[in-house]
Amino acid sequence: MIRFEQVGKRYPNGHVGLHELSFRVRRGEFLFVTGHSGAGKSTLLRLLLAMERPTTGKLMLANQDLSQITTAQIPFLRRQIGVVFQNHQLLFDRSVFDNVALPLQILGLSKAEIDKRVRSALERVSLADKVDQLPADLSTGQQQRVGIARAVVHRPALLLADEPTGNLDPRLAAEIMGIFEDINRLGTTVLIASHDLALIARMRHRMLTLQRGRLIGDGEAN
Ligand code: ADP
Ligand code: ADP
Repeated sequence: MIRFEQVGKRYPNGHVGLHELSFRVRRGEFLFVTGHSGAGKSTLLRLLLAMERPTTGKLMLANQDLSQITTAQIPFLRRQIGVVFQNHQLLFDRSVFDNVALPLQILGLSKAEIDKRVRSALERVSLADKVDQLPADLSTGQQQRVGIARAVVHRPALLLADEPTGNLDPRLAAEIMGIFEDINRLGTTVLIASHDLALIARMRHRMLTLQRGRLIGDGEAN
């Protein structure tokens, strides 16, 4: 699903985000990327989303070469990816339904199909009863679950999350991780950038550890 081959990323100001990073992720895997602030986690995610280009090396995602991808191909790439942000980035003047429906409206699906898929995604995060509420009426944990529903409503092959539990207490953080595991069981590849080592250690998934742009660990968290 993902192949980094000696991928390097140097920013225009000379800062190095990643140094010749190599690893592979199989379809259906669940893995964490961890490391201190500045280790290169966000750079890695931005490369996968084609928000940044590698400076050197080769980066393959679902048989597409992201080192060579054209601007015109980027929207098609993004359709295969769902993204969950730390601060969920919901639209506060729109209902839960409208927030989750947004990616499907962009795809131009019919109203009936959108309605069915939005309800199914909200059921998956146990928020079917909140469909007509505004995000402001929900708790922080519920808002993050709406963000997850929005990220998977178009059934992406790959789900990326950037510090998805950063603002949550440990109980809610564990609940959110459980939802990611449920989504993974449906076949979606899940890659989560997080520095919550205590939580990661309890989950026993593959963990890539970055330090100053280099891979210094790859194995089951313990
Ligand atoms: P993390 O997400 O692990 O905190 P980042 O990928 O944000 O790490 O940063 C890795 C390195 O790349 C850091 O040295 C950072 O200063 C640099 N960096 C990240 N984004 C940019 C940018 N847009 N421009 C210049 N340097 C950047
Ligand atoms: P539906 O109930 O809409 O017919 P399916 O039977 O295709 O959906 O899938 C069952 C459930 O799994 C639905 O909730 C669907 O949204 C979800 N699902 C299917 N494929 C994926 C995927 N790749 N990633 C996330 N969720 C998925």
